[in-house]
Amino acid sequence: MTVPFLNLRAAHDPLKGEIMAAIQQVIETSAFAGGSFVAKFDEEFAAYCHTKYSIGLGHGTEALWLPLLALGVGPGDEVITVPGTFMATAEAITYCGAKPVFIDIDESTYTMNPALLERAITPKTKAIIPVHLFGQVADMDPILEIANRHGIPIVEDACQAHGAEYKGRRAGSIGAAGAFSFYPGKNLGAMGEAGATTTNDAELKAKIETLRDHGQRKKYHHSMIGWNARMDGMQGAILSIKLKHLERGNECRRTNAALYQKLLAGEKNIIVPQEAPGRKHVYHLFAIRTPKRDAVIDALAKLSIHCGIHYPIPVHLEEAYQGLGLGRGSFPVAERCADEFISLPMFPELTADQIETVVRELKIAVRSING
Ligand SMILES: *Cc1c(COP(=O)(O)O)cnc(C)c1O
Repeated sequence: MTVPFLNLRAAHDPLKGEIMAAIQQVIETSAFAGGSFVAKFDEEFAAYCHTKYSIGLGHGTEALWLPLLALGVGPGDEVITVPGTFMATAEAITYCGAKPVFIDIDESTYTMNPALLERAITPKTKAIIPVHLFGQVADMDPILEIANRHGIPIVEDACQAHGAEYKGRRAGSIGAAGAFSFYPGKNLGAMGEAGATTTNDAELKAKIETLRDHGQRKKYHHSMIGWNARMDGMQGAILSIKLKHLERGNECRRTNAALYQKLLAGEKNIIVPQEAPGRKHVYHLFAIRTPKRDAVIDALAKLSIHCGIHYPIPVHLEEAYQGLGLGRGSFPVAERCADEFISLPMFPELTADQIETVVRELKIAVRSING
């Protein structure tokens, strides 16, 4: 049985008629760059995230970068984040001219370890970016307590956590701003590139809106240096349709995760992801940990079971960041996890049969490879 890592066609086929009609509407109104469909989606997505505002942007990387700029992060500043994330989190900091300062992750949730936060704060710290990795919100209460005491704003990297919750609060509504990606494979995916920043702060919202449109509030009157970070109109229209199915998709992911957890419980040499107390995990990815990971992935690939690695190299060890001078051993938990992670197939339409096949073959591979 072939098990794909991801199957976007299965999600899109039932929506094709509705999506084609929406694209036609965009063509008829010519609202291609920003415009009415993006404005409508902004309102709907803000409501979904329980925030006052959502600002539609070109992609998740801009959704991280623009709020940092709007918060005044610039050259000479430091922004604290984790090395266990996608490169974009650190790139957004670097593109402000600031320096990413990493702290290690927690070994059970794979998100920022709050116990390491306070000692990383310096007079140069201008923001903190916890990453809600794999679809689970970081431990925000202690992070907020420390950040508030030092007067440092938080930008949540919620690019993998659409609809995830922490003590009843939605991802993206907890810090000063939240960054979302609608890259096609995310829990809420566009049919192209798109992203959004959420916030409850009217001033921050106005600044980000100005930044995304070349720093102009009025056409050709540029009050600041901005960028072109507008969301594509077609993506706005498509996202409005796909948003209606996000909750159902997240519930299917949670059901799939529960089956994986049940079938893998107690298995030697496999660490299964868990939902921490008070949190609602939306399982963008289902990353297990196992020794000799590469051999296990190869064995499964031979059986047409396709897995991923998120991410094989922690950001501080990426070639691009060698200038920071952070070698192996700097963040042992993130490094160990990067060596052991395997992302198993995970998407809403995954069937129980497929999950049972993955687990059966995974157990055989792990047992034989580890003797
Ligand atoms: C996807 C992702 C991003 C970047 O989003 P893009 O839309 O691809 O620019 C940033 N951070 C994390 C954690 C992501 O998963």
